[in-house]
Amino acid sequence: MNQKIAKADEKVQKIISEKRKKDADDRKVGSEIFDNKTLETLYKLSNKNYIDVLNGEISTGKEANVLKGIKGNKYFAVKIYRIATSDFKKMNFYVDGDRRFKSRHGNKRQLINSWVSKEYKNLERLYKAGVKVPKPITYLNNVLILEFIGDKEGNPAKTVKYNPPKDIDNFFLKVLNEMDKFLNNAKLVHGDLSAYNIMNLNEEPVIIDVSQSVIYNNPISKELLERDINNLTNDFKKLGSKITKEEIEEKLGVKDGIILSLKN
Ligand code: ADP
Ligand code: MN
Repeated sequence: MNQKIAKADEKVQKIISEKRKKDADDRKVGSEIFDNKTLETLYKLSNKNYIDVLNGEISTGKEANVLKGIKGNKYFAVKIYRIATSDFKKMNFYVDGDRRFKSRHGNKRQLINSWVSKEYKNLERLYKAGVKVPKPITYLNNVLILEFIGDKEGNPAKTVKYNPPKDIDNFFLKVLNEMDKFLNNAKLVHGDLSAYNIMNLNEEPVIIDVSQSVIYNNPISKELLERDINNLTNDFKKLGSKITKEEIEEKLGVKDGIILSLKN
């Protein structure tokens, strides 16, 4: 291991030691799952002054780990895609129909890098359209740095799934307001919308996880939008919302997966 990597690894080791305090048997966290190239990427980002240290893990997902990064006295979310366990069939499917990402994905690593740049560009587009998403800070290879959604002490907010809103219909209306901007201003379809990908930050929704989001004119967007609306309706119904699918479609200006304002 060269020195640069060793230094980055030291930072990642801090995460491991924290995690091990909680669970001595958990050996899958930290540098054991991050390959040398990822450690090098983290090292470069810290060299460019985006992060001082990585401090704790927020989430271990199917394809990515979200860690807490600290720079000065500010927190950031650092989303790291794992090369070994990513679903390449899925990634290819979503990247293919998008002319922003032309065949730069000859191998796994390149495909993941395209995927990360897609998530970053989607976030940028959404942020500019005024949708409440984490502000994208930067990305490099398989690592994405985002605004931290949580409190000043560094406690991350939870998703709606784990922290259901107090006033469900009121919160749902706020979600629909964000989705209206998502579709009609940013002209993107989320593609994986559910209670798992909406955070509850002091009873305000923040939409996350937009790597698979596609531009409305992508051939798969109609199918994705129909699925998103069904999932959203079902998840909020389970939480006690009385709002119907028809009301949602009306509010968003959508019929059968088609965005009416963008029909031509
Ligand atoms: P995936 O579902 O693909 O693993 P997500 O982008 O949904 O990735 O992030 C996983 C989890 O990490 C989220 O459910 C949330 O708890 C946490 N998280 C994601 N982004 C942030 C952020 N910007 N600030 C704080 N926590 C975050
Ligand atoms: Mn998610």
